[in-house]
Amino acid sequence: MSSASTFEDDFARVGDWIARYLADPLRYPVLAAVKPGEIAARLSERAPESPEPFERILADFESIVVPGITHWNHPRFFAYFATSAAPAAIAAEALAAALDVKAMLWRTSPSATELEDVVMRWLGHLLGLSSEWTGIIYDTASIAGFTALAAAREACDPTIRDEGMHGAPLRLYITEHTHSHIEKAAIALGIGRRNVVLVPCDESFRMRPDALATAITRDRAAGLRPLAIVATVGTTSTTSIDPVAARAVVAEAHDVGLHVDAAYAGGAAILPEQRHLLDGVERARSFVVNPHKWMFVPMDCSTLFVKDEALLRRAFSLVPEYLTTTDGEVRNYMDYGLQLGRRFRALKLWFTIRHLGADGIRGRLRAHIALAATFADWINERTDWEVLAPHPLSVVCFRYRPAGVDQADLEALNARLLEAVNAGGEIFISHTKIEGTYALRLAIGNLRTQLEDVAAAWRVLQREAGRLSGA
Ligand code: PLP
Repeated sequence: MSSASTFEDDFARVGDWIARYLADPLRYPVLAAVKPGEIAARLSERAPESPEPFERILADFESIVVPGITHWNHPRFFAYFATSAAPAAIAAEALAAALDVKAMLWRTSPSATELEDVVMRWLGHLLGLSSEWTGIIYDTASIAGFTALAAAREACDPTIRDEGMHGAPLRLYITEHTHSHIEKAAIALGIGRRNVVLVPCDESFRMRPDALATAITRDRAAGLRPLAIVATVGTTSTTSIDPVAARAVVAEAHDVGLHVDAAYAGGAAILPEQRHLLDGVERARSFVVNPHKWMFVPMDCSTLFVKDEALLRRAFSLVPEYLTTTDGEVRNYMDYGLQLGRRFRALKLWFTIRHLGADGIRGRLRAHIALAATFADWINERTDWEVLAPHPLSVVCFRYRPAGVDQADLEALNARLLEAVNAGGEIFISHTKIEGTYALRLAIGNLRTQLEDVAAAWRVLQREAGRLSGA
C-alpha cells in the first residue's frame, strides 16, 4: 500500500466500488446483521496523527463499515418508505462535493441559486402547480415542514419574531396519522404540544372536515388562535390521503392557513392518473414533497413550495453586515430558513430528472404502484392473511391471521413474524399500528425493485409464517 496514490486512482477505485455495489446489491443482507456497539468496537478509538493511505481507508470501509450498513439502496428494502439513489444523482453528489458550494447568497453560488430556481420550476410544472408557487430545497421534510409553520406563525402574528411567544396560544390541527415532525415543529416554534389538536378521522384514516370545523370554531370561541391546518397526502402508516380540497374549504371559511405534507406521495402527482392527489393544493399556503423519498434522488432533498415567498423571507431574514451585498434583486437562499450555508442539492435533482427523464420517473412510479397492487392481490387470495388498509399507492399494510389464533395473540404472532422475516437478511419490512391493530407494512419504492423481489418477499413471509405456526 502506498500513500502516494493519485486522486484519479482513488476516485476510480471508489467509482468501481459504487458500480459493483449497484450492479449486485443482492449479495448484501438488507438489514445489517450486527449488534449494537459492534461496529464502534472495530474502529480505532483515536484519530490518526499521520496521514493514512487512501487504499487502507477504503479497505476498512469495505471490511468494517459496509457490514454495518442497512442497505436502503437494496431492491428488497421494503421498510418505512423504500427509497433509492439514481446513479446519475450519485455522480452529481460527487460533483457537488467537489465544488463544495455554500448556496446562501447569490454571489457565493450563482449557479446553485439559479439552478435551484429553475429545477424547482420544473418540478412545480411536473406536479401541475401554477406559477404562483415558489419552490425551495431543504434537507428533510421535517425541516421543510418546520419552515412552513414558521411562516404560518409569521402570518398569524408578526410580533412573535421580535418579542417571542406571547398572547393567546396558537393552535395546529392535525390527525393521529400526521407525521411526528409537525409536533416537533410545534415544540421548536414555542407553540407547544398541548396546542396541537388531533382532529378525528373517518374510516379511511382521513381528517374529517366537519370535525376540523368544529375544533376551530370551539378554539376561536375559547379565545385561542388557530394557526394552521396540516393535511397529509400519503400518511406514513397507511398512505391514506386527506383530500386537500375539502380541508381547503374549511381553511378558507375559517381563515386559517393550510399546509400540505405530501412528503412521500406528492411525487406520484407527476402521473396524470394520480394528479388528483393534489386536487385543492392550489388553495393551500404551503406544500412539501420529498424527491429523496420516491423520485430516486439520494438523501437529502426535500422541497417546500410556498405561495407567498415574501412571507417566508419575513419569517427568517436577518442579514448581518458581513453578509450584505450589492447584488440587487437576487435570491439569497439564506433568507428562506434557518441555515446559512446550504448544500448544492439542486444539482442531484437536476441530474436525476434529466438522466431518467420525467417519463422515466413516471414509468417507475407506475410500476411500483402496480407491484403493490399485485402483492395485495396475493394476500387477498389467502384466508390466513389479510390486508388491513386501503393501499392507494405503493405501500401495503397487512397481517398474518391463521385460523384458531385469538385476536389478542395476533399482535405477538405478527411481531415475531416481523423479527423472523427480517433476521435472514433477504428482505426488510417494517410495521405500524392502525387504530390499535398491529400491521406489517411492505413499501415499494426502490428504482431497482422488480416483480421477482416482491415475490421473494411474499415467499419469505409465507415460509416464516409457516415455521412460526409449526406448519
Ligand atoms: N412527512 C411524512 C408523511 C413522512 O412519511 C415523513 C417520513 O417518513 C416525513 C414527513 C419526514 O420526512 P423527513 O425524513 O424528510 O424529515
